[in-house]
Amino acid sequence: MSPNRATQPHRPRWPRRLRQALLGLLTLALIAAAGEWAARRERQARTEALQQALQVYTLGLRGVAGRFDALPYATARYPDILALLQHPRDQALRARVNRSFEDLQGRTDSAALYLIDAQGTALAASNWNTRDSFVGQSYQRRPYFVQALQGQRSAFYGVGMTTGRPGLFIAEPVRQQGRVLGVVAVKVSLDAVEQTWSQSVDPVLLLDARGIVFLSSVPQWLYRSRRPLAPEDLRQLGEQRQYGEHADATALPWSIERRADRPDYLLHASLDGRPRSWLALDAHLPELGWTLTVTADNAEVEQARRQALVLSTLAAAVLLLAGLYWQQRERRFAEQRQARRELEQRVQERTQDLQQAHAFQKAMEDSLVVGMRARDREGRIIYVNPALCEMVGLRADELLGCTPPYPYWHPDDLDRHQRESEATLQGRVAPQGFESRVRHRDGHDVITRVYTAPLIDAEGRQQGWMSSVVDITSQKQAEARQREQALQLQRSARLASLGEMASTLAHELNQPLMALSSFALAARALAAHPPLPQGDGGALLISALDDIVAQARRAGEIVQRIRGFIRPQHSRRETCALPPLLDHVLALLQSDLQAHQVQIELHLAPDLPELRIDRVLIEQVWINLLQNALQAVQDQPPARRRIEIAVQPTEQTLEIRVRDHGPGIPPALAEQVFTPFFSTKPEGLGLGLSICRTLVEAHGGHLCLQQTDGEGACFSFTLPLTPAP
Ligand code: ADP
Repeated sequence: MSPNRATQPHRPRWPRRLRQALLGLLTLALIAAAGEWAARRERQARTEALQQALQVYTLGLRGVAGRFDALPYATARYPDILALLQHPRDQALRARVNRSFEDLQGRTDSAALYLIDAQGTALAASNWNTRDSFVGQSYQRRPYFVQALQGQRSAFYGVGMTTGRPGLFIAEPVRQQGRVLGVVAVKVSLDAVEQTWSQSVDPVLLLDARGIVFLSSVPQWLYRSRRPLAPEDLRQLGEQRQYGEHADATALPWSIERRADRPDYLLHASLDGRPRSWLALDAHLPELGWTLTVTADNAEVEQARRQALVLSTLAAAVLLLAGLYWQQRERRFAEQRQARRELEQRVQERTQDLQQAHAFQKAMEDSLVVGMRARDREGRIIYVNPALCEMVGLRADELLGCTPPYPYWHPDDLDRHQRESEATLQGRVAPQGFESRVRHRDGHDVITRVYTAPLIDAEGRQQGWMSSVVDITSQKQAEARQREQALQLQRSARLASLGEMASTLAHELNQPLMALSSFALAARALAAHPPLPQGDGGALLISALDDIVAQARRAGEIVQRIRGFIRPQHSRRETCALPPLLDHVLALLQSDLQAHQVQIELHLAPDLPELRIDRVLIEQVWINLLQNALQAVQDQPPARRRIEIAVQPTEQTLEIRVRDHGPGIPPALAEQVFTPFFSTKPEGLGLGLSICRTLVEAHGGHLCLQQTDGEGACFSFTLPLTPAP
């Protein structure tokens, strides 16, 4: 996987908030659409049910009206009817007609059957013998009468003038030779229809041509108009007394919501103080001039809409939750993937680090000249590096797991090894380490210095001991060589002193020996000349004197030879710088200086010129002065075990000073110390300073004791920049 791809920022096409808002809007739109769809579906179903109900109600109505349709027609053709119209005062005829009407009404179950003359007065009626009898009543203004008198059959719904009860009035003109003599009317009660309707849960209405409700399952709406009536209509209504007392026909407080493409419409009205909505459907009955309206509670439609809304909201919520869950899941997976990637990367980096650290450690171990050895708390070797293997000539696998005694312990030091090992394992570790002699596999000895420290693991627990083993064999050998050199130097110094002594002796003895030789020669001459006694005695004297001469000469020659041997005629001069020479001298004295813990302080002027000197002799001067200084400070307290060496140029010379912080030299002895054989040391020869002065003077310089401020001694000598010839 490419790291670029992993870190590339994801840039959505739409901002997150906008996407959420759009999704929310879409969801809301879908929910609303689901609600609308459910409402439409329900409304459609309701409308279909309404259509069926409408058919049933229409059939019922038509059935009722149709049942009495033929009754007035047939009745109008009764001969008695015509006769009564012609002879209205014929009481017997009237009584007969009355009974016939009564009989017919009983048989046909009509509300009333009656005969009206051309003036509008009822001549006979089926209810002739009741309190509400129509007989004698005037129906002059009743529209059905007016219309029938004009020769038309008419149907009219209205409230009965006499009874005050509503009904359907069907009127048929009674003709004689084309002339209308009167009208037969039948009143049909719609009580049964009304009663059936009253059982309907939702309102069923019957409206007349003016839009006035005249039959309704809702009594409050009776005799009220669907729309405001024109004044002409109101006037007619009052005149015709169609609905009796209810002539005002106020407009119903309805609100109608209709769509052009639908037969049904919504009717909003308040019923029992509660706002209600119905789905309504109308049917026109043209033969009666009526409109039948059936309704169904629109709450069902709204409920279907609500249910659909609730269901679709629930579905949306479920989908939203599922989406959220999916998103969370995806996010979690993405986070897990990212975490895994990061972990893998970290592991990779860590592995790389470890590999590098391991490579680094291995390179370090391989390059180490110091041997490393780790042991557990029981002393078992758990780690060795190549340097240690090389030091003892054994392979790592031969060493790992070994417990004391280790195979490389020196056979002559086994007890010491054992003691040191036990001390280490018991935690008695010398911080400065200890020396240990081990035996290499090939048999040679290796001197080591071992430093040990506790081996602590990551939890801070001690697991054992880690030792570094330094091969100091060559250092030891160098020290031994240095010691040998120092001894040799001291020997040669002593030899030089002896040579000086011999030279001095020779110098001292040469004169007396020469004198002895001269005196002996003179004595011999005297003895050889008369008047010295002759004979054996004289001969012996001569011979003895000869021997003296011979011996004296011999002694002189020997002394001469020794002198010549010790002080070579030509010293070997060479151009050299003083600092390296001084380094060489200090290196020779290093072990003594260290042994007595004496500090050397150098004060060398920069850019010292080179000199033409006998290097060995000047070294000898320095060695003598430094050895004296060292012997002077070695018994002093540590703070005073210091020797300062200063070299600085003057005009013509280089001045060298060696100053110590020992007991110093009393002023009285200032010159005496340069005298040969003057020494305050039990084993001293007293020749060192004397020889030094000789050697310095041989180079054209001076050696003297300088005045100090009371602490220690300070010897100073000069060497000319231009060498003495
Ligand atoms: P020696 O071998 O006896 O030391 P030297 O000629 O080297 O012969 O010195 C002579 C004497 O000078 C010494 O015995 C010592 O008393 C004195 N002397 C020399 N150097 C010092 C010094 N740095 N401090 C004190 N006394 C010294």
